[in-house]
Amino acid sequence: MEHAVNAVEVPTANGHSFSENVDRLVDKAMAVLNIDPALAETIKACQSVLQVRFPVKIHGEVEIFTGWRAIHSEHMLPSKGGIRFATFVNQDEVEALAALMTYKCALADVPFGGAKGGLVIEPAKYEEDDLRKIVSHFTRHLAAKGFMHPATNVPAPDMGAGPREMSWMADAYRHLYPEDINAQACVTGKPVDHGGIEGRTEATGRGVQYALQEFFRHTDDVRKAGLGEGGLSRQSFVIQGFGNVGYHAAKFLTGDDKATLIAIVERDGALVNTEGIDVEKVHQHMLGTGGVHGYPDATYVENGAQVLEMECDILILAAMENQITTGNAERIRARLIVEGANGPVTFDAETILKKQGAVILPDLYINAGGVVVSYFEWTKNLSHMRYGRMQRRHQETQSRHYVTALESTTGQTLPDWMRDELFQGAREIDLVRSGLDDTMREAYRQIREVMSEDPDVDDMRTAAYVIAVNKIARWYRTLGIS
Ligand code: NAD
Repeated sequence: MEHAVNAVEVPTANGHSFSENVDRLVDKAMAVLNIDPALAETIKACQSVLQVRFPVKIHGEVEIFTGWRAIHSEHMLPSKGGIRFATFVNQDEVEALAALMTYKCALADVPFGGAKGGLVIEPAKYEEDDLRKIVSHFTRHLAAKGFMHPATNVPAPDMGAGPREMSWMADAYRHLYPEDINAQACVTGKPVDHGGIEGRTEATGRGVQYALQEFFRHTDDVRKAGLGEGGLSRQSFVIQGFGNVGYHAAKFLTGDDKATLIAIVERDGALVNTEGIDVEKVHQHMLGTGGVHGYPDATYVENGAQVLEMECDILILAAMENQITTGNAERIRARLIVEGANGPVTFDAETILKKQGAVILPDLYINAGGVVVSYFEWTKNLSHMRYGRMQRRHQETQSRHYVTALESTTGQTLPDWMRDELFQGAREIDLVRSGLDDTMREAYRQIREVMSEDPDVDDMRTAAYVIAVNKIARWYRTLGIS
């Protein structure tokens, strides 16, 4: 019998585990809000954690897999958060990520509690059929123990997982509970033809784009970060992690906003080209080879970590936690640091970066796009109907009437392109993007408001935590728990 997994050592940064780092950030916000200690403990505690170990027979050999699902908060239900498929997953990491989900949902006004899951596995090692078998077993364990349900605990994809894995999870759940009319809502991030929603796969990267667009609308914030005028199109950026979040963020920032991608840092090294890197070409190269090595139109650098330190305007960290630590923070030259990943800058590294004048767009704000669109997918599943189905043609007809009225009163004819634009009723993707854009702008507005009202709050992360913790504290106080 082969043990596919053994207990994973909990990594620390400056002696603090990931979940301790999250707690330190929350403590800062709680001090600003003067939260009473019992309530502080209630909010911070991880409410429950399930660990499962289960055997799966693969090519005649039994392997034992280990996974977790942590529920940080159930003050709103369902508890929501992705499932990470990676060899280094451990319970502390899952609990830290579950806590981050609680605060992220509160900040973005997504009415969910926080949860997260992890399965210790190297997905690339397995054939598709075997992987499906492993994911189905994992799902059955989670569901049977009450850690997966459309009303209470809804997973989504995270590192190492995507729509395919989510469709397997949904399928396994539906076979277990065929009488559950809302079974499709047991997981989000599914492919569209399996009950998913248009725009979920791109959502986190799209959210990064909308948040950056909002940042660049505020010239005082841009100036404070020491960035030049002229908006996003004048900025160069480096990205670490070219997976779901990194690829989509890079695609939209270079495609729509004309920013220049000058380096990609991946697991097997980095690519550098200050003239600009072709996002789609690198993406295709990575799909073919599994890494960046061998890509022809950029300089390959074996020591990827070094490239994080190169001169650039924006550094987007979209790989994993603990990437900027006290070990490299002093050498980071980017003016704006974007936490596409969860927890990439440690608590102590942030202090150094702040002293250097860098501005950080924190994870709980900037990567909220995934859970925001998951929320849209979940409500779509509960309504059993795609967004826009009832209104789209009605909107089109109304627009035609407006255009006809406008043209007949003015005696002018609108150009074809304008008529085409006006005649379009909103499709599901239009509504999803509109809802996401609105959420990112609104959260940014709230962050700015807190920073302008309270001089003790001098960074966006603390402001974001203050907003999130305040909303959760209010919820408990209304119930009389404080
Ligand atoms: P992914 O597995 O699709 O991509 C991660 C990429 O990072 C991979 O290409 C991997 O090779 C690379 N990578 C891993 N370790 C690296 C390292 N040390 N240096 C350089 N590159 C490295 O995962 P993802 O879904 O894009 O998630 C990335 C991060 O974003 C995670 O922290 C995740 O929790 C967070 N996040 C994801 C979502 C989502 O919707 N997928 C939402 C919110 C936050």
